[in-house]
Parts: sequence; C-alpha cells; structure tokens
Amino acid sequence: MNERQSERSEMVAAQLRSRGIRNERVLAAMHAIPRHRFVLNEYDEAAYADQALPISCTQTISQPFVVARMAEALRLQPSDRVLEVGTGSGYAAAVLSQLAAAVYTLERHHELAAAAVAHFEQLALRNISVGVGDGTAGWPAYAPYDAMSVAAAGPQIPAALRDQLALGGRLVMPVGERSEQHLLLLERLSNGDQLYDLGTVRFVPLIGTAGWKD
Ligand code: SAM
Repeated sequence: MNERQSERSEMVAAQLRSRGIRNERVLAAMHAIPRHRFVLNEYDEAAYADQALPISCTQTISQPFVVARMAEALRLQPSDRVLEVGTGSGYAAAVLSQLAAAVYTLERHHELAAAAVAHFEQLALRNISVGVGDGTAGWPAYAPYDAMSVAAAGPQIPAALRDQLALGGRLVMPVGERSEQHLLLLERLSNGDQLYDLGTVRFVPLIGTAGWKD
C-alpha cells in the first residue's frame, strides 16, 4: 500500500487535519488506504482530490473528508464490529477495516459489491465481509454492532438498524431530503437514544424498504 504515499500525506494534511479531524487512528487509516485503487481508471489522477467521484451504477465514492468525519464520529475501538450500509467502491469499508476488528458492509448493486470484494482481496483486507441486498434491513446474522455507518441518505434512521446497534453503540447517517441532508450521530444509551447533528451533507439516496423508493 506504498504507492502514491506523498499524495495521501498531502490529503491528510490539507483536507483532514486542517479541517479539524484529530483522531490519530483515523488519520493513519486515511493515510494507509490507497484511494486510487477504488476509483475508476478515468479518475486515477483525481483520486486524492478533495471531492466525491463517480463510480459504476451512477453512484459515488465519498469525499475523503466525509469518510474521515464519519469514521471519527464513530469513535471506533480496535475490538469493535461495524456495519456499513452502502459499500459503493469499498473505500470507506477499507478505512473502517483499519480501525475495527470486523466490518460487515452491504450494497444493493451486485456489480459494485463484486468490484469491492476484488479490491479487498488485492489489498489483503481480510476482516471485511460483503453482502448484497437492502441494507435498510441491516444484517441481523451478525448483530449487534458497536458502530454503523450509513453511506447513503434516507428520510429517517431505519428502525432495523437502530435495533441492531449494541447498547453503547454509535450510528452515523445522512438524514433529510433527497437534495440535502444532515449528518446525524445516534448513540444508543441505557437511558435512551442521543441524537447529534454534525452538519449539512449531500449523499446519494438510500433506496430500500426503509429508505426512498427508486
Ligand atoms: N462508502 C462508499 C465508498 O466508500 O465508495 C460510498 C457509498 S455511495 C455514496 C452510496 C452507496 O449506497 C451506493 O453504492 C448505493 O448503491 C448504496 N445503497 C443505496 N441504498 C442502499 C441500500 N438500501 N442498501 C445497500 N446499499 C445501498
């Protein structure tokens, strides 16, 4: 994972540290994962640019800052088990795999899931499991999860996801209209759920039973 390290160092300094990402484990993970391996060939030169980029199936690989912001908000411990909804290119799951014990990631497009699996194999990232299906139902077989990252925007936090969160668990998800959302952090505590607004974001829609219709 040594290729294009200087571009990643610059990305970490200019896009992440300068904007307030402080968690050193998150910064190290962002430095370690070669984002250029997850973008389409035609975007190779832009792989470390400060932006989301198109991937297959009219989806996007998230902006590096957004991936780091969501990972930091989850306050991951090395023993944590994480569910991601919206594998996309697999980039964010690869970052999460550096921060947690196991990552379970769900994608509704078979083509994207298959490409992500190939990337994980090439990079020998062995603690990531990929499933194909509607992630708004979660992945009950491996629940409960210490953390969840939902990488597509829905009208509300799906009840099934909240129910598969362990006590003390954290979930981040963009919630709002199709055009613009707020990144919400939900913490499941013994005395109830706590909700925090982490600011305005723009994500592709979460399509599914507890998301938007196509
Ligand atoms: N985390 C990704 C990455 O690093 O490349 C970016 C994810 S992209 C912004 C959102 C993804 O969510 C898309 O690939 C989309 O197909 C997927 N998606 C949308 N609705 C979904 C659902 N109900 N279940 C699973 N995946 C879904």
